[in-house]
Amino acid sequence: MFDKILIANRGEIALRVIRACREMGITSVAVHSTADADAMHVRMADESVCIGPAPSSESYLNKAAIISACEITGAQAVHPGYGFLSENASFAQALEDHSITFIGPSAEHIRIMGDKITAKETAKALGIPVVPGSDGGVPDFETALKVAAEIGYPVIIKATAGGGGRGMKVAKSPEELEIAFRTARSEAKAAFGNDEVYIEKYLQKPRHIEIQVFGDGRGKAVHLGERDCSLQRRHQKVFEEAPGPVITPDMRARIGRICAEAVAKINYIGAGTIEFLYEDGEFYFIEMNTRLQVEHPVTEAIFGVDLVREQIRVASGMDMSFTQDDLVINGHAIEVRINAEKIPEFAPRPGKVKVFHAPGGLGVRMDSALYGGYSIPPYYDSLIGKLIVHGRDRPEALARLNRALGELVIDGVETTIPLFHALLADSDIQTGDYNIHWLEKWLAKKFA
Ligand code: ADP
Repeated sequence: MFDKILIANRGEIALRVIRACREMGITSVAVHSTADADAMHVRMADESVCIGPAPSSESYLNKAAIISACEITGAQAVHPGYGFLSENASFAQALEDHSITFIGPSAEHIRIMGDKITAKETAKALGIPVVPGSDGGVPDFETALKVAAEIGYPVIIKATAGGGGRGMKVAKSPEELEIAFRTARSEAKAAFGNDEVYIEKYLQKPRHIEIQVFGDGRGKAVHLGERDCSLQRRHQKVFEEAPGPVITPDMRARIGRICAEAVAKINYIGAGTIEFLYEDGEFYFIEMNTRLQVEHPVTEAIFGVDLVREQIRVASGMDMSFTQDDLVINGHAIEVRINAEKIPEFAPRPGKVKVFHAPGGLGVRMDSALYGGYSIPPYYDSLIGKLIVHGRDRPEALARLNRALGELVIDGVETTIPLFHALLADSDIQTGDYNIHWLEKWLAKKFA
């Protein structure tokens, strides 16, 4: 086991990792930008190193500075959290070259899953169901027409190098396809420096269902069920729950086994998430995230496991502490993402937090790096906290969320808390009757 781990991140996820380290008797090292000198992760870690100025390109994304920080402090491993360098294959490789352990999968697995076409081909070869579409990139409009006629309209054109929900265009007819194909290519070129696009069948009202997998790197892997993350705004998740309201135990066992077997086959190590669109009883692979997800706590709640502890264990060469048979679902969990944003525009609102009071009580977890008097810097993501509730069933989890939101106080900055109060009052949320387009439509109606 490691004696010392460096956390190449900030905010709530840095605290999450520091907490796991402390419980395991491992010394934690925080890194921070000059703008984060007063941040909670710096205060909470055993040691800290300033790695650069405020812009993340010069600090949290500065590989050389992070590796130097490992060498100065003697950290043997790096936990990347999510975002920043967590899915950066060359960072994982650079650490390996310096004999520092990257707490995550191999550089090779990160690379494969980082390219959308290669990821889809790999998934298909491993027996994972994918969205019908082109075999790889589509070189010209004639090919696009042929593929679209084969799979049927509507279709979606996606950039091979895309990410963050950008570079996608929907076409409902051959006429629309011509414009969509050309604009998708030029936008992809401008945004990602690569104009390759591919085509998929456009699913009209899917849910976003993702399967949590975990591997030991030596051919053993398990799945930890699904999370339903269909409530999204601009392809950004805002509310996640586990188990999924429409997924039956049989469906879970079937898709879960496919995913676990797939990652076992490639000797995948650590935590991963295989994301699907789900419609009419079928799962369609969209991508795999080779890291810990923001919404991992809902899975931890229903399975009673510590995923970060588990990541650290397998990275150090130990076995997983559970088998598939040990993983039994207990109750229902929901997470809401609290952002420092003004609704309905969702415009970032950094600033000074006057009062912060976290909710508590049975089945309530608040992951946040806020404290009273803290100034949220304007340079980073606007996520300032995650409220996670766990109940015996979905109605109890919803009631608990309502109660906990009522206790949560963040004074001084605008947040997305009012959004969740309004959402919880909606009958579709109460019954779980939503898909990936639901929230955008609801917002348009609510704030028309
Ligand atoms: P990114 O990597 O940019 O996030 P994804 O492939 O994960 O791109 O897709 C992001 C979102 O775009 C999905 O969650 C879904 O809302 C929508 N989407 C992607 N592919 C399709 C599809 N074939 N049909 C309908 N919606 C899609």
